[in-house]
Formats: sequence, C-alpha cells, structure tokens
Amino acid sequence: MSSDGAPGGGQLFVVSAPSGTGKTTVVERLVQVVPDLTMSRSYTSRPARAGERDGVDYNFVSRATFEAMVARREFLEYADVFGNLYGTSRADAEGLMASGKDVVLVIDVQGAGQVRAAGIPLVTVFVLPPAFEVLEQRLRGRGKDSGDAIRRRLDTARVEVAAYEDYDYVVVNDDLDACVTAMRSIILAERVRRGRMRRKADVILKTFGVQPVV
Ligand code: 5GP
Repeated sequence: MSSDGAPGGGQLFVVSAPSGTGKTTVVERLVQVVPDLTMSRSYTSRPARAGERDGVDYNFVSRATFEAMVARREFLEYADVFGNLYGTSRADAEGLMASGKDVVLVIDVQGAGQVRAAGIPLVTVFVLPPAFEVLEQRLRGRGKDSGDAIRRRLDTARVEVAAYEDYDYVVVNDDLDACVTAMRSIILAERVRRGRMRRKADVILKTFGVQPVV
C-alpha cells in the first residue's frame, strides 16, 4: 500500500451538497488522486440521462426492483430525491470497506441522516456553493433540467444548506482544484487519527519492547 493509503479496515465518508454544487465532479477527481479511496455506486429508480451508463454512473433499476430491495432491507440508506429513489447497497459499502478501502458515499442530506442514525463510524463533509446566484447559474448553465425542475432544486437547496451544521467538515466549491485539495486533506488527516493508527503504532511500540496499551 502507498504511504498515504488506507490503514486497516476502511473508513466511511459521506459527502452531501445541494444539487448543482459540483460534488460528483469533485469526488470523481478525489478518488483519482487519493489511493485506496473509492466511491460506492448508488442504486436509483431514475431513468438514465443521455451519456449515463448502467453500472458506471448508477445501478439503474425499476421502482419495483428498488422497492423490493427496500423491503429486503438491502439499503444502508435510501431517499426520495426530486421524485426518484436513490440508495446505497449495504452489501456494496460493507464489502468495499472490508477490502480495506475508504468509501465515499455521495448522498443527499436525508440519506446522510440515516447513516448517522445507524451509528456507523462516519466522517461527513458538506460542500457549499459560493453563493445562491452561483448555484442558480450552474443549474441553468448545465441545461439538464427544465425551468420548473431548476426552481424545485433551488427551493430544496435553500433548505439543504442549513444542514451543513450537522457535518464534520465544510468545503466551499468556488474552485474545483482547491475543493479537491481540501477534500484530499480531510481524507489524509482522517487516516492518521490515533484510532486508525493504533495497529501500526502497536507494531512500532513492540520494537521498543513496549506492550500495546489495551
Ligand atoms: P442526480 O439525479 O442529479 O444524479 O442526483 C440527485 C441527488 O440524489 C443528488 O443530491 C445526489 O447526491 C443524491 N443521491 C445520489 N445517490 C444517492 C444515494 O445513494 N442515496 C441518497 N440518499 N441520495 C443519493
């Protein structure tokens, strides 16, 4: 493993932000520059947009399939976002963490609340756009949504931004590179927390003839 790779079992990270903040772009860049960090692929009942691929951007499933997965308690968290269902498979997230990788979930604030409530050790990051007007311009500029859908996303954003209070870290996406650098710093700092370094430290302490403190 590389020097800044994930020590021991993987850590779960949650990244949330209002729609249009650019969080997916940031996290896609992040997993390219941080070793042993991976994004969990969500399930959604939303139809694929042009250019999106099943099994790459999302696992696209029917609403019936999604609801059957809910009934079987297969989701670590799930939420209805703008009328579509989105969720994180418990088996996928746990499998990735068991393999020693740190895992990032890019999920909305409702889903983040569910993971928090499940009591899983978690590090959370909220990405804020620099200002409301910038978010509005980005949503209109990307041309993915109708005027109505944009208004709905902006109304939701007004509510969602207040949720930053519940997150461990807050990063402003006014510059993509700076935002990725800040997120990378968070991941790397979390990897050298004392709790996560214990196993490595114990091995070193043994070379001093010092027994690990239990
Ligand atoms: P989009 O349809 O634009 O890809 O995503 C819409 C929203 O759904 C985004 O805010 C995104 O973070 C959220 N989302 C994507 N995957 C999940 C998931 O697995 N769980 C939850 N709770 N939200 C998700």
